[in-house]
Amino acid sequence: MKTVLVNVVTPDGPVYDADVEMVSVKAQSGELGILPGHIPMVAPLRIGAVRLKQGSSTEFVAVTGGFIEVRPDKITILAQAAERAESIDVARAKEAKKRAEERLNHKTDDIDFKRAELALQRAINRLNVTK
Ligand code: ATP
Repeated sequence: MKTVLVNVVTPDGPVYDADVEMVSVKAQSGELGILPGHIPMVAPLRIGAVRLKQGSSTEFVAVTGGFIEVRPDKITILAQAAERAESIDVARAKEAKKRAEERLNHKTDDIDFKRAELALQRAINRLNVTK
């Protein structure tokens, strides 16, 4: 099976670095599944899960937006924040979700509403990745 090297990088450092058979990401334009040898491409990402398939194992990484840069032999995902499933603090994500929901229920101005919506998406994404 052909593989492609995938790096997930954040301002705090690298989060993932391995050869995989397939990568799935949530791009702004929709879900993308990328195989080794893909033509070069850059696409903005949504808050979502990155799925990395190698043999019979599939790993999930939660990413907070950013970009994917695809080259035939290397894929780089640059994100503001990214966590592998096993390093996600579930209690923290649940707290963040609760705070965001409370803010959304007591709507103040549009900027706070948008911020709370994004915080809620980040928390739900992290919780989904741990499942
Ligand atoms: P919180 O309100 O709990 O800080 P947040 O969504 O505002 O959540 P971010 O700004 O996206 O957090 O991330 C800040 C840093 O904390 C990043 O390095 C991110 O990887 C890390 N982080 C955030 N939430 C979690 C979590 N539940 N488990 C592990 N790391 C987390």
